[in-house]
Parts: sequence; structure tokens; C-alpha cells
Amino acid sequence: MKSHAQVVVIGGGVVGCSVLYHLAKFGMKDSVLLERSELTSGSTWHAAGGMHTINGDPNVAKLQKYTIELYREIEALSEQSTGLHMTGGVMLAATEARFDWIKGLVAKGRYLGIEAEIITPEEAHQDMPLLDPKCFVGAMRTVVDGHLDPSGTTHAYAKSARKLGAEIHRHTKVEDIVRQPDGQWLVVTDKGNILAQHVVNAGGLWAREVGRMVGLELPVLAMEHMYLITEDMPEVAEVNRTTGKEVVHAVDFDGELYLRQERGGMLMGTYEKACVPWSEKRTPWDFGHELLEPDIDRIAPSLEVGFQHFPAFQNAGIKQIINGPFTFAPDGNPLVGPVRGLPGFWCACGVMAGFSQGGGVGLALANWIIEGDPGFDVWAMDVGRYGDWATLKYTNAKVRENYSRRFSIKFPNEELTAARPLRTTPIYDKLKESGAQFGAAYGLEVPLWFAPEGVKDSFSWRRSSDFEKVGKEARAVRSSVGLSEISGFAKYSVTGTGARAWLDGILACRIPNQGRMTLAPMLKHDGKLIGDFTLANLGEDAFFIAGSGIAEEYHMRWFEEHLPEDGSVTVKAEGLGLVGLALAGPKSRDLLARLTDHDLSDQAFPFMAISWMDIGMAPALVGRVSYTGDLGYEIWCRPEYQRYLFDVLMDAGAAHSIALFGSRALNALRLEKGFGSWAREYRPIYGPYEAGLGRFVSLTKNADFIGKAAATKEKQQGGKLRLCSFILAAKDADVIGDEPIWFRGEVKGWVTSGGYAHASGKSVAMGYVPREIAGEAEGWEIELLGERLSARLLSEPLFDPKGERMRGAI
Ligand SMILES: Cc1cc2nc3c(=O)[nH]c(=O)nc-3n(C[C@H](O)[C@H](O)[C@H](O)COP(=O)(O)OP(=O)(O)OC[C@H]3O[C@@H](n4cnc5c(N)ncnc54)[C@H](O)[C@@H]3O)c2cc1C
Repeated sequence: MKSHAQVVVIGGGVVGCSVLYHLAKFGMKDSVLLERSELTSGSTWHAAGGMHTINGDPNVAKLQKYTIELYREIEALSEQSTGLHMTGGVMLAATEARFDWIKGLVAKGRYLGIEAEIITPEEAHQDMPLLDPKCFVGAMRTVVDGHLDPSGTTHAYAKSARKLGAEIHRHTKVEDIVRQPDGQWLVVTDKGNILAQHVVNAGGLWAREVGRMVGLELPVLAMEHMYLITEDMPEVAEVNRTTGKEVVHAVDFDGELYLRQERGGMLMGTYEKACVPWSEKRTPWDFGHELLEPDIDRIAPSLEVGFQHFPAFQNAGIKQIINGPFTFAPDGNPLVGPVRGLPGFWCACGVMAGFSQGGGVGLALANWIIEGDPGFDVWAMDVGRYGDWATLKYTNAKVRENYSRRFSIKFPNEELTAARPLRTTPIYDKLKESGAQFGAAYGLEVPLWFAPEGVKDSFSWRRSSDFEKVGKEARAVRSSVGLSEISGFAKYSVTGTGARAWLDGILACRIPNQGRMTLAPMLKHDGKLIGDFTLANLGEDAFFIAGSGIAEEYHMRWFEEHLPEDGSVTVKAEGLGLVGLALAGPKSRDLLARLTDHDLSDQAFPFMAISWMDIGMAPALVGRVSYTGDLGYEIWCRPEYQRYLFDVLMDAGAAHSIALFGSRALNALRLEKGFGSWAREYRPIYGPYEAGLGRFVSLTKNADFIGKAAATKEKQQGGKLRLCSFILAAKDADVIGDEPIWFRGEVKGWVTSGGYAHASGKSVAMGYVPREIAGEAEGWEIELLGERLSARLLSEPLFDPKGERMRGAI
């Protein structure tokens, strides 16, 4: 074994081998994979080998598509069969709600290039004769769906990587990983040590243990998972004989089952409700090519449904039940990317669908290590989407919930309940007493809307019990004044003698003068957005930044990676050390003026001004800005003042019939202003001019900021896309995001977010379309729940297009 390598990949499961293959393919041949046993010795060897492109998240779906397309490539290079059976498949709906969800998947597939179509239960029966069409209301036919040989596939990656120059050492256990003073990593194994620039944790079942070697508690947990294999079945033989093909794949969501042919019989797996975690605190190192004891009672309820939906199983003998563990992150998506504070340490773990996702994970990670960027949008699987609040116990509760709901519908207005409440702000109980219905974002309880006594959300694809109430909140803001809790935003303080120059180089905007704020896009080197903030200059080398709450760890990682080494800049994520309240609406100034001696006139405290002031007895940092697009103020304070501030604002607001409003009303309000939001309109695949943030990019400022060259090019050439707002002829449902946008009969774009703009009385969608057609007002349709609804492209925001309310001119 060599003593130095550019990259050491820990773990020879399907994911580690894919990472190694991609590193070698992109030229990083000095890469070494270490496997403590034989390749596949974690969860890989006993996988059912199923794969498909369908995924609720479009970016993960793209990655799955890439993975499956890769199999022919590695087979050809390695001359090792992956055992690929591309059977095609059916995904089945036994309820109308499920059928609505399936229609949404097919619609999404249209702009992702994923072939799928809606079919009747009878057509599904023709495709998959083992099912009983009476049990279903509809289905989706998929083309890229099938199964493969897990071991063959892993070895095909491994052989391909070796052929390209990478090394693999089996029976080599990594026992420790020690950071060296020069920033390299000493990988300590039972066969000697390797010094590496980069280490990749692809430890699968042992990813937690590998993380702990560098002081990291990763949010992953293994769950037991069972599938059964039947004896040969005459019905299967009949399908094979009459069609000349294998039985197609089937996913029966309502039965929580997946099925495929296995030799002359069938394989049926289930995500049972009564799920069981495995090795909750640490994974034993002596576990290897073993299986767990099957527990047929646990999966009996699902099997019962399965036997009813697929009657041929009633007469089939069960040959074997496999029970094996595999890992999940709290939301079921992989954990990929660099880890904040550990330069050169990378994650490729928590991959629960290694045969659908392993290729894409390998591609992203290799790109990231070599180019400094994953090369596509990996937000949904970025390890940076979790903070230190995602503890072992949190992960345990969330992973169980995710596993048991793997095939359950999550309605757009549904909030999952496990591991909650965890993070709360000081006014949590006051909001709750006022009827707040909470959601969780980045582990924090966030008020969504305020329900009268006895009213709760009823979950639906369509407008629901909250619709009228949210409307009332939004209209109250526009007509008088509303108060909302904004502690969920990320808040950063940037201080030090080098702060200004550093911000000038990392943000694309001009640095505002003291006491002023600006919108601040942050770009990657390729000129795409990696953040959108409000930047405030507090004077004396002190700046304040507010941004997306869910991206706090993600942005801190970026900030820290780019800090100067001379210690002249300090960036601190304030977390809940700084909490907030927002006032919005035409009466917000009158209200605030009653409580402060600070001059709030337009002359003294104009739009985008910021200052510390006392509100009543409490010191607060007040910025004149509002995401509602209305006259408004964001009020930041230390947590010990929040309860007091809440009370004085609500008391003083009584004179103006102040209303509490939650994030759903805020969404309705920002939509009618065309304001985008992080992870929806603003993502690392869009340029600032495409996203409508071009006016906040200063190409003429003296500083050379990250992404300037690419942004200059984008401005000159115009970019490919444009973010647009539409109003649509919706009936009883509004878009939520990821729906296709049609133009003159062809799918041309996709929705990023939407909803009902209550104060304007319009159903609104925001989304990206090609720049060339972004000026066309007519000819648009947006597909929602299987129907193409006519839409009109807006040339200006529905509310206050000139920004007069916001600026205080009216
Ligand atoms: C019953 C069952 C059915 C499944 N069905 C499917 C399916 O149909 N389709 C699908 O896509 N997925 C399926 N999966 C999930 C799939 O198995 C996983 O997604 C995949 O195996 C994850 O691969 P991995 O490389 O991340 O992890 P692992 O396979 O666990 O590999 C990790 C490797 O790292 C090695 N390692 C760990 N620590 C060290 C160390 N310190 N030093 C050296 N080596 C180390 C281990 O020995 C192991 O070989 C199934 C899983 C189970 C259990």
C-alpha cells in the first residue's frame, strides 16, 4: 500500500466504488479505496437491486437518471456484468389522493426527460398481470425501471476504477483519521498509514463510526429491512411465456410494497410501519456478510395487502426472507459533500438507494473534490442541510418516521411530527396560545398560520382548512398591520478590520453605507447563485447579514472556506442568540413610532435603513425592510427581550387591529411581489440575471468578487432562463413547485413555487422559462393535478409594482 494519496475513499460498497470510479475517470488516478473486508460487505451485498428514476425531488431524480444510464458504461469498461434487467414498471395508486400524487410525478418527468405515462388499472394489469386491477384507481407506466446484481454492479465500478489507475485494498480497516498540522489527513489502518489530501467517508453502515474518528456525529441510522423471495410461480412462468419478457417492476404505494421477478418466482419487499432501527448507537465492527433474523409478524400487515393486491402470491411458497440493515438520513436523502470545519473531509453516506443514486453521488463528489463544485444542484443531498441540532436521538426519531412513511403521501400542507418540538424561540408558548400551527424548518418551530380554537390543518393537495384563515392574515397585513416571528432566518455577524474588503470579494453587491442595507447575491465561481442575503452595514467594521434559515450550515461552510488566513475577519452564525419579529403593513410605522423615540420618518429612516433603537425598554436592531413587499420593519433582539417586545408590539398594535401572520401568509404576500426565496427560486443552477437579481450585482465596483467574470458573461449574453411570475386559472388547488410550464403546447419550464396571493385574489406561480419566450404574455399553461390550466405571464408584480408602499411614497 502506498504511503501518500490524493484521495482515500473509506468503504467498498456500491457508493465508495462509484466515488473511486468517478475520481479516476476525471483524472484523479492517485486515489485509493480501503475496504475493511471484501467489497460489498456492508448493506450492498444483500440489496434487492431495484432501481428507478422516479423521485419526489427533481434534482435527485436527475441524479438517479444519470446513475442508471451509467451502467452500460461501467459494464463496457470493466467487462463485468451488472446483471442489468431493464424491465420497465408500474407504480400503482389505490386511492385518489395517491393518484393525484402520481399525476404530479408524471408531470415533473416531462421537463426532466423521464419517460412515464398515466395508465388505467386495466392497462397496468396488462403490463403486470399479477395485480388485481380492482384494487387500484390508476397507475403510472415507467420505462427506466428494473433491477440488477448488487455485487456485479459494485465490482463493475471497482474494476473500471482499477482500469483507470485507482487502487483498491481489501481487508484494510481504517482505525483512525488524524488531521496533520499541514492540513493533510493521516489515515491509520491495520495495514499501515496513508497521508491524503482528501478523505471520503463512504462507510455505509459504519459511516457514523468513521465520522466519529474526526469528531463528527453524522445524522445517519440503519434500519432493518425485509424482502421475501417466493418459490417458482406458474403465473410468472405464464407471463414469461406469453410476453417473452420478465414480469415488470411494481411499486404499490398504498400497500407499501415493491415487487419484481426473481428467477422463476417473485421478490416482494416492504417498508413496514412497525419499523425497527438497527445498532442505534454504534455499529459492531464484526458485522459483515450476515443477515438479521427475519420477523414475519412485523411485515404481515403489508404482506396481507400484497396478497390481496397481487392474488397470485396467495398460492406461492416463500423460499426465503432476507432481513438486512441499511442507512438513512433523517429525510431519507443522502449526505454528500464537504464538512464544515474539516477541510478535505468528505461525506458520501446515508445513501438508502445505492443502485438508483450511487452513480450520481459518485459524480457529484468527484466533481466537488476536483473542481470545487458538484457540477449540478445537490442541495437536497448536501450534508450541510443539517446543523448540530440533528443529534443522535433526533436522527433516530426522524429516520423511523421517514422509514415508516417511505411510501406514504406527504401532502403539501402536511407537517411531520416526529422529533418535535425541538428548537423553540422564547415566544413559542405565546404564539401557541394564539393558535399558531407550527412547522419545523432547520429543527426550529416556525408558525405557519393561526387557527381558531378547534380548527386544524386537514391535509390535501387542494386548498384546505387553512385557506380562509391564511387569507385573513394576508389581507390584514395589506390593510393595516401584521406581526410575524422571523427568528427562523439565519443571522450572521461579520466583524473585523478586513470585514468590508472580504464582503466585497464574496458578495456580488456594492457594500452599503453605514446605517444602510442592500440585497446581496452571493455567487459561485461559475457565476451561479450560492446565496441571497440582506447585508447591513452597522459601522465600525461590523456588518449584519440575514439569509435563509435552512442554509445556515451551508453558508457558514462557504464563508469559512473563503475567510482570509490573517484573522482580520470573524463570521459568526448568531443562531437563536438573535431572534426576531417583523411588522408589516401600512400601519406598521404608526405602530412602531408609538414605542420608540427614534425618528421613523422617510427622511430620517428610509427604506433599507437600519439602526439600533429602543423599543419600549428593549434595545433592538431595526431594519426598514419587509419580505412582504409592504411598508415594514424587521426587529432583531437578544432572546431575553423577545417576550417583552412581542407583548408591547401586540398591545400597541391593538389600536390598529394588529394580526399575527405566519409563513403561509408571508408566502402569499411575497408571491404577489415576485420576491424569490432560497432553495426555490434561488439555487446554485441559476445565474443572478436569470433569477432577476441582476440589479443587485455590481460589475462596476472596484472589488473583484467571486463569480464576477461569469456574471459579466451572463449579463452580456443574457443567460438561458428567466424567472417569471404567472397568474393561473386555478380552481380548488394552487401550485406548490416543480409543476411543468407549457408554452403553446410544449413543456418549456418548471414552477419553483406558488400559491394563492390572497390579498390580490389570484393564484400565482413563479418559475423558470427560456429567456427568448419570457416576454410573451399569452400562450402559457401550467399543469396541476393532471390538468393544464391556462396561465398569464405577468410583466410586473401584482402588488405595488412601483414599490411605493415599500418605500413609503404612499
Ligand atoms: C434488504 C435490503 C434491500 C435493499 N434493496 C435495495 C434496492 O432494491 N435498491 C437500492 O438501490 N438499494 C437497496 N438497498 C440499499 C442499498 O443496499 C444501499 O443503498 C447501499 O448498499 C449503500 O451502499 P454504501 O456503499 O453506502 O454502504 P455499504 O454497502 O454499507 O458499504 C460500506 C462499506 O464500507 C466498509 N467500511 C466501513 N467502515 C470502514 C473502515 N473503517 N475501514 C474500511 N472499510 C470500511 C464496509 O465494510 C462496507 O463494505 C437495500 C438494502 C437492504 C438492506
